[in-house]
Formats: sequence, structure tokens, C-alpha cells
Amino acid sequence: MASGGPTLCNDSHLASRMSSVSGTRPLQIAIIGGGIAGLCLAGTLAKFDSERKLNVVIYEATSSFQEVGAGLTIWGRSFQVMHALGLDEELAAINMAAASNHYFSYRRSDQGDEGHEFVRRTFGKGAGYHRAQFRAALGNYVARYPSIQVEFNKKLVSINHDTPSEYQVVFKDGTTAQCDVIFGTDGIRSRVRDAMLRTAATSVKRAGVL
Ligand SMILES: Cc1cc2nc3c(=O)[nH]c(=O)nc-3n(C[C@H](O)[C@H](O)[C@H](O)COP(=O)(O)OP(=O)(O)OC[C@H]3O[C@@H](n4cnc5c(N)ncnc54)[C@H](O)[C@@H]3O)c2cc1C
Repeated sequence: MASGGPTLCNDSHLASRMSSVSGTRPLQIAIIGGGIAGLCLAGTLAKFDSERKLNVVIYEATSSFQEVGAGLTIWGRSFQVMHALGLDEELAAINMAAASNHYFSYRRSDQGDEGHEFVRRTFGKGAGYHRAQFRAALGNYVARYPSIQVEFNKKLVSINHDTPSEYQVVFKDGTTAQCDVIFGTDGIRSRVRDAMLRTAATSVKRAGVL
């Protein structure tokens, strides 16, 4: 990776990139990973981009918005995000808590076939979703915006920073793409984070700090 590689995309970084391209062409945004975080981010960028200054591409490693795991429960602040995105209706339709407020039962399994239930918890003010349905709702949401493109089977392997203004993202299938800003929403084993930290470590080493 060339010097001055990927940097953390904070507010000031995004603002400086936006000002450098504003008026000439839309800012090219690459979101690596189309999980809950990537889809929410893309939706938020598109919803509040009233001047259409952003082109957003989600690069997702898998072949569709599939989801492993069963349920997802959300409360308070997450609701506020969903509400701000305008997803109240879609999510109300798949909220399991609306049908039954039964969340978890805790039981002793050593007392008969059914065990002995000793605690029963409710969703309270939360809402419960089937994970696949929740992610599909977010997938449908981003599909409403022509400024958001989704590319499946694009597993990021590395990031190059060949010019001061652009990044090149490199995928496992050998293809590449150019962008102005990269967001890493590629989960707990994030390649984006890995690339950023490696670059930071290299520049610190070069500077003789380590
Ligand atoms: C058992 C369990 C139960 C949980 N229950 C809850 C709950 O009830 N409520 C709650 O709020 N949270 C819950 N969480 C946490 C929640 O699931 C996570 O915080 C959330 O899924 C993180 O979303 P994400 O989009 O950041 O990452 P992920 O869901 O991991 O999505 C990352 C995406 O990036 C893609 N990707 C990965 N690498 C690459 C790459 N190199 N290039 C391109 N794409 C890539 C992946 O395919 C994936 O689609 C739970 C977690 C677990 C493990």
C-alpha cells in the first residue's frame, strides 16, 4: 500500500473530501459489508443527501443479503434510528413482539420432560425480529434509492491509496473499484480495519516512532 493509506473516516475527513469534489461530481462512497450497519449507513446517507452529492456502493462478500442466526431484539436508541429512516411500518409488520410479548423463558432441564420454568421475560418496550426478515427490510429500503448500488460477491482483500484523492478497493475476484471515501462495515473480522491499522503501523514505523 502506498504511503498515506486509508484513514479513519470521521466527520472532518468526510467534510474535507466532500468539499474537494463538491460542484464537480458526486462523492464516490464505498461501504464494505452489507450487514445491518452497512445497510443502515447507506440508507442514512441516501435519505439525507437531498442535493444528490453522494454515490453509494455497498460491496458485500456474499451472494445476497442472507443472514445467519435467529432473532434480533432492539430497544430505545436503535428504534430512533429506524424511525428516522422511516422504517416504522415495515418493521411493525414483522415485529414478533406484536404477536406475543414472550421473549425468553428460563427453565431447569433436570425436572421432567418440559423442565421447570422459573423465569419468563417479556420484550418490554423492545421489539423482536427474525434476523433474515430484518435484514431483508433494510435491503428493500436501500433498493428504493437509485443513488445506492449493491454489488454482491465482492469480498474486499486490500485497499490501495495511489493518488491523494482516491482509494482503490481490491476484491477477491480480481476486480477493483475507485472511491473517495471508504466505510468499513465488514463485521468483527474487518479487512478495512486491518488495512487501516497496518497502514497506520507502517507510517509510525517509517517515522521512527517504533
Ligand atoms: C448470538 C448473537 C445474538 C445477538 N443478538 C443481538 C440482539 O438481539 N440485538 C442487537 O442489537 N444485536 C445483537 N447482536 C449483535 C449484532 O448481531 C451485531 O452487532 C450486528 O450484526 C453487527 O452488524 P454489522 O453490520 O456491523 O456486522 P455483520 O452483521 O457481521 O455484517 C458484516 C457484513 O460484511 C460482510 N463482509 C465481511 N467481510 C467482508 C469483506 N472482506 N468484503 C465485503 N464484505 C464483507 C459480511 O458478509 C456481512 O454481510 C447479536 C450477536 C450475536 C453473535
